[in-house]
Amino acid sequence: MAKTTAQTSALLEQYCDQLHPMLEWLAHYGADPQGGVSRLLYTPEWVQAQKALAQYMTKHGLDAFYDQAGNLTGRLIGTAPELPTIATGSHIDTVIMGGKYDGAYGVVAGVLALAYLKEAYGPPKRTLEALSLAEEEGSRFPLTYWGSGNITGKYDVSELPHVQDRDGITLAEAIEQAGFGANSPYTSGRRSLGAYIELHIEQGCVLERSQQQIGVVTGIVGQRRIEVRVTGESNHAGTTPMGWRSDSLACAAEMITAVRRSALAAGDPLVATVGNIQPYPGVSNVIAGETMFTLDIRHLDHILLDQYTEQLRSELAAIADREGMTLFWQENLRAEPVLMNPDMIQELQQICEENSMPSRQMPSGAGHDAQIFGMMCPSAMIFVPSRDGISHNPLEYTAPEELVQGFRVLTQWLYQTAY
Ligand SMILES: [Zn+2]
Repeated sequence: MAKTTAQTSALLEQYCDQLHPMLEWLAHYGADPQGGVSRLLYTPEWVQAQKALAQYMTKHGLDAFYDQAGNLTGRLIGTAPELPTIATGSHIDTVIMGGKYDGAYGVVAGVLALAYLKEAYGPPKRTLEALSLAEEEGSRFPLTYWGSGNITGKYDVSELPHVQDRDGITLAEAIEQAGFGANSPYTSGRRSLGAYIELHIEQGCVLERSQQQIGVVTGIVGQRRIEVRVTGESNHAGTTPMGWRSDSLACAAEMITAVRRSALAAGDPLVATVGNIQPYPGVSNVIAGETMFTLDIRHLDHILLDQYTEQLRSELAAIADREGMTLFWQENLRAEPVLMNPDMIQELQQICEENSMPSRQMPSGAGHDAQIFGMMCPSAMIFVPSRDGISHNPLEYTAPEELVQGFRVLTQWLYQTAY
């Protein structure tokens, strides 16, 4: 018999109350004695966490299954199988000494949302899936988005990249030890989806500082990573007068200041960072003949991203020219922005308004599985605040009532789209 509105609301409250305890429960798998959670791909802690989630899915009437990459899916089969599947979820792996929320929040929320919807309304029209993705961070192997990539076809377990972890264990060994891989009893995870929605902590300070509860993500920024080398001349720090020097480090310092100034002038959401600098020979009594520094530049609009990058390159070249030095510029990474689906953005925004939740639309400066799915199907992301903007750290925290708000938005969107 169909439940009354009062009954479904009461039931939703019960599931909201489970959110925080369930995150604490999941954080025991891989709890790091040094602090936080270290749950790296295919380690025993990671396998145990997936198994525990699979049990939970089964207990709540979801059809739980693994794929060869180790992604875990809890499926709620719809009554109209001709309609494309809607998936929600996030990643189960963490960085070393990471927090309890990054990835885990979206996984736990997805499982609870489907369990709630099933109990409250029975089977949906459109099939729903809660995903606990194998790997996103690339913390054990340099394989960011390995989990989602195995679903969309970016990766395939039958062609394992030849990579090793810091102990020299290969991916092939690790995947087999965990019970997955091309020879495991599971099938390939590759499939097409009708939509993907991911609930995630913001990992930044924008929502907290603007006192908003929900961030509706407009897209995941594109990125350029560049290695810059400035070449002058090494010489004696005592005998070379100041006017006759070709000091690459002093020149690089001016360039770094120019990066900051120009990025501030360009305005949000452009960000530009110099995160590493290496002078050669790097000795206190020698003028640095060459200095290398890195540039990380991100923007949601690829045209503006390229424009800024080109302008910066000319500006740095002009500084080098004036100082009589050579500039070497090498682009090492180029990732294009992935925009979230405009209809889904609007639907999420409307849910926030109907529920009087203070919200804003914002880009994501960090990468997420949604950018992999976003290349295959309409995708969206919901952010909740991160205390002090801290993430990838044992201090990562989002208050239970903030976790609940994101969960409500996710659940409502899934209900109105799938039922
Ligand atoms: Zn994450």
